[in-house]
Amino acid sequence: MKPLELFKELEKKFREAGIESPRSLLFHLFRDLLEIPENKILLNEEIYISPTESEKLASAVERLLAGEPLDYVIGWKKFLNIYLKVDRRVLIPRPETEELVEKVIKDCHKKCCFFADIGTGSGAIALVIAKTVPDSIVYATDVSKEALELAIENARINGIKNVRFLWGEYLLPIQAMLDKIEVIISNPPYIKSNLISNLEIQVRKYEPLVALDGGSDGMDFYREFLKQLPSGKKVYLEIADYTAESLEELVKQHRKDYHLCIERDMYGFRRYAILTPVALVSR
Ligand code: SAM
Ligand code: GLN
Repeated sequence: MKPLELFKELEKKFREAGIESPRSLLFHLFRDLLEIPENKILLNEEIYISPTESEKLASAVERLLAGEPLDYVIGWKKFLNIYLKVDRRVLIPRPETEELVEKVIKDCHKKCCFFADIGTGSGAIALVIAKTVPDSIVYATDVSKEALELAIENARINGIKNVRFLWGEYLLPIQAMLDKIEVIISNPPYIKSNLISNLEIQVRKYEPLVALDGGSDGMDFYREFLKQLPSGKKVYLEIADYTAESLEELVKQHRKDYHLCIERDMYGFRRYAILTPVALVSR
């Protein structure tokens, strides 16, 4: 089989189906699903594709044409220094969240031992922190039992043993450990409910709604979280640009014990809300 011919045939099919940038999608698919690198396709040397691989490719193409995200079809996503199994039980971890984790590690890896990741999904945030700060204990929670199952599998696959998984909402599952937890991180659902239908098909049709829907103003999670948050923690939250002002207002009104700093992501959007105990800021 000549890979370039197969590639071109699929590219045409994807283009006709209205899929954007089919070339990079297909290069990815050939590399990750069939282990055929880009140069092998371009050189168009004769290669053997087994009937099993051929079936795998056909099924992947069908799923992609239906609008399923490539990462679910491949089944894996690289997130900083780990590989995560991903499927429809969890949100596909985003590059913005990698930036959030980098901030946490940069600020805290020397000073802190006890971390909590609220709404862990695939386990992305908790597992990278646990791997990078091996002496730490990371509590990872989620309201979705099926997400937690996958996160536990991801800990096993990556050989990471210092994460404790707990089921439940907001800070409730970590009540008993809250005193010793120093850093709380969360990438909660923050999309306004009426904007969900505008998201790309890959997101709105395939990713879990419980991971995305932040209520009518995108603020549902933050409101309850800030009610339950005890004083004295370092907190890193991912936010939507349009929730920045409401969050500032909420902290100003109800959490005078915290200083809030909003930071922008690589695209220039306000994306990170960092809360520091006031006592530590004014020192
Ligand atoms: N932390 C992962 C990441 O960054 O890729 C997943 C983030 S996803 C946007 C939000 C996660 O929070 C979902 O897994 C969802 O099930 C969970 N979740 C939603 N509401 C929650 C709540 N009230 N308490 C705990 N987890 C919640
Ligand atoms: N960043 C995700 C998106 O735009 C949303 C994740 C979230 O709600 N935390 O699809």
